[in-house]
Amino acid sequence: MIGAVDIGGTKIAVGMVDENGQVLSKRECPTEADRGYANGIERITAMLRETARKAGVEISGIGIGSTGPLDALTGEFGDVDFLTGWQGKNPVKDLGGIFHVRVAMENDGDASALAEAGWGAGKGKSRLIYVTVGTGIGGGVVLDGKLYRGVDNAHPEVGHQVIDSSGPPCSCGFRGCWEALAAGPAMAAWLLDHAPVTYPHREKLSAKVICDLARQGDPLAQSAVEREAHYLGLGLANLITLFTPDGIVLGGSVMISADLFLAGVRKTIAQGCRFVPYEKTKLTLASLGEGANLIGAARVWHHRYRQAA
Ligand SMILES: [Zn+2]
Repeated sequence: MIGAVDIGGTKIAVGMVDENGQVLSKRECPTEADRGYANGIERITAMLRETARKAGVEISGIGIGSTGPLDALTGEFGDVDFLTGWQGKNPVKDLGGIFHVRVAMENDGDASALAEAGWGAGKGKSRLIYVTVGTGIGGGVVLDGKLYRGVDNAHPEVGHQVIDSSGPPCSCGFRGCWEALAAGPAMAAWLLDHAPVTYPHREKLSAKVICDLARQGDPLAQSAVEREAHYLGLGLANLITLFTPDGIVLGGSVMISADLFLAGVRKTIAQGCRFVPYEKTKLTLASLGEGANLIGAARVWHHRYRQAA
């Protein structure tokens, strides 16, 4: 049984995941990175023991999906924004020492990509790109069941492709990255910029609220949805033109409202991808739902140590 650990900026989830990607038991807690790395490992250890006991199983391996950057092969955290003080620490080594099993870790975008490729909507696709649209845009590329790694095993950052160099500034240093234009907060920021001061929904605007308002016929929210579909489509069009994948799986909180965007996304793609067989790239929604990150973490272990699973 694989112990799965999903380390995010706001919460850590832990669970037991079986050979078919089913979550048998899970627990989570706030990340609270400032309590220190050692404390984080203690809490993860306790949750792993508890979920194993609850599922009545023994842990035979541990898979980790984490917010990055990180070195997937050494297991060391890089300069992680969301985990202050965890830089340079190595949960692969530390959890391996505590549980005496093999441990593997990947960036969470890659972990979800592997899960969708192996157990989810991307099953059977030999060239697959996974894209998650939420508070940011991330993803991973899986070729013939193997995670694509760049030089120095680097993880490609699909969210930081520049879509409009006169666009809003991005944390990476450029302006107008896909993430800065099409992630959930970008949708809310655009609407706030364009709404009159009297707009009744200014407080608590989020991508979800905007989608709900659009469904209720709010014209400003509908414009925000149209704009979102256009920018989502541009980023996806670039991926299709560059990689001509068999499929792109779309996940993340913004994609819960995908029905509002997909027609516009397809229209944008059709406008400019004519040098590649874009209509053969299947756009599908992630199928692993709520537990996707945890399932992804487990898949990381299978990908590393048991390719055939
Ligand atoms: Zn950027």
